[in-house]
Amino acid sequence: MPHQDLSRITGSTQAIAILGYPVHHSLSPVIHNAAFAAAELDYCYLALEVRPEDIETAVRGLRAAHYAGITLTAPHKQTVIPLLDGLTDEARAIGAVNTVVDRDGKWIGTNTDATGFRRLLEINGLYQKDIKAVLMGSGGAARAAFYVLGQVAREVVICNRTVERAEELIQSLSPFVGECRARALPLAEDVLTAELKDADVLVNATSVGMHPHEGDCPLPAGVRLPARCGVADVIYSPPKTRLLQRAEESGCKWVSGHDMLLYQAVDAFKFWTGVDPDLQVMDQALRGARSR
Ligand code: NAP
Repeated sequence: MPHQDLSRITGSTQAIAILGYPVHHSLSPVIHNAAFAAAELDYCYLALEVRPEDIETAVRGLRAAHYAGITLTAPHKQTVIPLLDGLTDEARAIGAVNTVVDRDGKWIGTNTDATGFRRLLEINGLYQKDIKAVLMGSGGAARAAFYVLGQVAREVVICNRTVERAEELIQSLSPFVGECRARALPLAEDVLTAELKDADVLVNATSVGMHPHEGDCPLPAGVRLPARCGVADVIYSPPKTRLLQRAEESGCKWVSGHDMLLYQAVDAFKFWTGVDPDLQVMDQALRGARSR
């Protein structure tokens, strides 16, 4: 068990918790407690296992106990919404909340998966106006990615194993993505080969290639990646997926879900405290937790 400096905790320490089911695998406590200590902020962060049927009771209890905020992970990102007092634009459009803050007694939800993903692309020069993006997947992470890409892209092609889910995603988010043209297509070799020819960014928002299936790749084996296309993977474990290895071999710029995980934590920390955390401290804490 990692050493925790519990002597930091006093009667006035503010509490924040991640709610999930299961939640024991979460790396968020390690990241946030390291960043709170480094910033000398009087907060502590816990992981609480909350069954789906108990989310309302848990949120009411934490509100009554004056928690400063919460993080939501699966399966609570949608079901928490009716229990909140307000949402940011991102959270309302995406229909999912992963971070909540107590602002003067009002619980406000946001979606830092979206803002973290935007930051990941921006920092790496992949968030440009009028780009064409190819997005693989249509689950929760793809909703956040489509919302973000839709703010700047001229075109987003969503490829999913179940095309109907991609169609539904486009329909539900189209009021929030302005002029961006969106198409739903199957996750198939011929489709991806054709669509990637003039694409600027390829994003994997499926769970294919995630630990313990590191050998799998969502991009069919016969598809060639053009070197001009940047590649982003939302999967953070492993930090360099098979897709990202292929991107590197093809000479593409690539960015990892490891960094997206960090940036979503950075944005959550700022949402709670108003302070920018030390990114290096968070990164070291995350790498340390992975290697244990
Ligand atoms: P989800 O809602 O369950 O969606 C899973 C997606 O993967 C769906 O589009 C599904 O297609 C597709 N998929 C699953 N198995 C497949 C297969 N064998 N072949 C082709 N497609 C397949 O999951 P999610 O919440 O969006 O999460 C997706 C990934 O994002 C996870 O690895 C998660 O850890 C990661 N994530 C990372 C961050 C971060 O901060 N880096 C944040 C959020 C999520 P169908 O629709 O056809 O089932």
